[in-house]
Amino acid sequence: MKIICIGRNYADHAKEMNAAAPSEPMFFMKSDVSLLRPGTPFFYPNFSNDIHYECEIVVKIDRVGKNIAEKFAHKYYSEIGLGVDFTARDLQQKCKENGHPWEIAKSFEGSAAISNEFIKKEKLELSSINFSMKQNSIEVQNGNTSDMLFSIEAIISYVSRFMTLKKGDLIYTGTPKGVGPVQIGDELQGFIGDTKMFEFKIK
Ligand code: MG
Repeated sequence: MKIICIGRNYADHAKEMNAAAPSEPMFFMKSDVSLLRPGTPFFYPNFSNDIHYECEIVVKIDRVGKNIAEKFAHKYYSEIGLGVDFTARDLQQKCKENGHPWEIAKSFEGSAAISNEFIKKEKLELSSINFSMKQNSIEVQNGNTSDMLFSIEAIISYVSRFMTLKKGDLIYTGTPKGVGPVQIGDELQGFIGDTKMFEFKIK
């Protein structure tokens, strides 16, 4: 399976990163070993001193497709989850400065936390899904898919121009503003609406 992550899909997050909002979707990938299984702790890696959380709506692909037209993209997924795109911000900054690829900052082991449950898309208003994350019981991020620069359908269509999407692939659709560092001992809880989607510790 592939893990595809959209960068800068919320204007307010692009702004807090001092980055321009993109004119077309921008994506990067994580590998299968990046997936942090539900209920398992995130172990703070020894190669970074500035790991940030990015809470994101995650789309699970459930049908094989390539060159998917945007109007048919809704047929390629049926469930929505919630995840955290963990980022080694210090390494990412170095990669950016050197014009290097991002993998060491984004695709390290355990860097893609995912919810245990996924919600059937029929149960959600896809164009206005409210989601949030708490760090030690304090809300640190709150976003709504209505603020996405590129919709789920637009993302699926765009990514499938470059690579075949397969059953089980996950698409992290970008983070709203409010990203920040985690510390060992923190507890993160993610919500879609009022439904708790994940809860785990930083160790
Ligand atoms: Mg992200």
